[in-house]
Amino acid sequence: MKSMESGCFRQKLESPLTRGNTRVLQINLGRVCNQTCAHCHVGAGPTRTEKLSEEGVEGCLSLMDRLPHLQVVDLTGGAPELHSGFRDLVVQARARGLEVIDRCNLTILQEKGQESLAEFLAQQGVHVVASLPCYSRDNVDRQRGDGVFEGSIRGLKRLNRLGYGAAEGRRDHDSNLQLDLVFNPGGATLPPPAHVLENDYRRVLKQDLGIVFDRLITITNMPISRFLGQLRKEGKEQDYRQLLEQSFNEATLPGLMCRETLSVEYNGRLHDCDFNQMLSMGLTADSESGEVPDLWTVTEEQLVDREIATGEHCYGCTAGQGSSCGGSLVEAPAAEKTNP
Ligand code: SF4
Ligand code: SF4
Repeated sequence: MKSMESGCFRQKLESPLTRGNTRVLQINLGRVCNQTCAHCHVGAGPTRTEKLSEEGVEGCLSLMDRLPHLQVVDLTGGAPELHSGFRDLVVQARARGLEVIDRCNLTILQEKGQESLAEFLAQQGVHVVASLPCYSRDNVDRQRGDGVFEGSIRGLKRLNRLGYGAAEGRRDHDSNLQLDLVFNPGGATLPPPAHVLENDYRRVLKQDLGIVFDRLITITNMPISRFLGQLRKEGKEQDYRQLLEQSFNEATLPGLMCRETLSVEYNGRLHDCDFNQMLSMGLTADSESGEVPDLWTVTEEQLVDREIATGEHCYGCTAGQGSSCGGSLVEAPAAEKTNP
């Protein structure tokens, strides 16, 4: 099975990247969002209309039963909670014994019509992964919009009251309501070492605001979509691309999320990851038949060992400590640890 795209990134690899067993089904429910963040790689916002159809929701449920190694259903958007099929997907995935992740922007918890959302997530034991790119009001509002920090803090307090984050990352705690926070840099830099930043977040949020959480996830900004527009406006695109390429770290390759994730687009097209989805890079075509599987027909057999579609944007996942929807992929180099 041949790659759709090759170039400098491909030349860094000894052999093409290939998929393993599909453990994570990431469903992008659409581009509608109540926010318009500057770094958004989806270009989401209130005026977008694209969304997964009812048949698409059915197709995702049926696919859950066809992937024997599936463990996690990861719901993303836009704001996935705004989709009318969101709660059904959660309930049905949980009934299948799957972990469900909600990529939640926190302010959605206060939107009209979402009054019962926090309780629903807690009742279903949904793992909440929430964006909070800084613990400073100014930085959050600059990146995500005026008033977003305040709304995010209100959302976090509400989740905490329901028991989210009570374990604070400890394994000896009986709370199973996991709350992770997501950090991404405000500009054209790599994220600092996750463990250093996590300690800062924990200290400031607890001391100043009484907020607890389980884990801090650091994500590298991808030079695509709205963030690419920002880089171009600031004349920093080439420097940032160079930084990512020069920071290539081979040790990140085994843990890349595309090896175990299947990303579903709102129109039923399949991708190796959400970033490829935004770049309209579908799964690679079969070298003999030329066929590309879709949501309604794909099987695990068609996915295993399939070559992953890569491009220059993949440097965003392989730079420094690496990056994925689950955070960094390897420990930060020693120099970074002592010099945050
Ligand atoms: S980053 Fe998240 S919260 Fe912000 S606009 Fe994009 S989808 Fe919405
Ligand atoms: S962008 Fe990242 S996750 Fe997606 S194919 Fe490239 S390396 Fe894999």
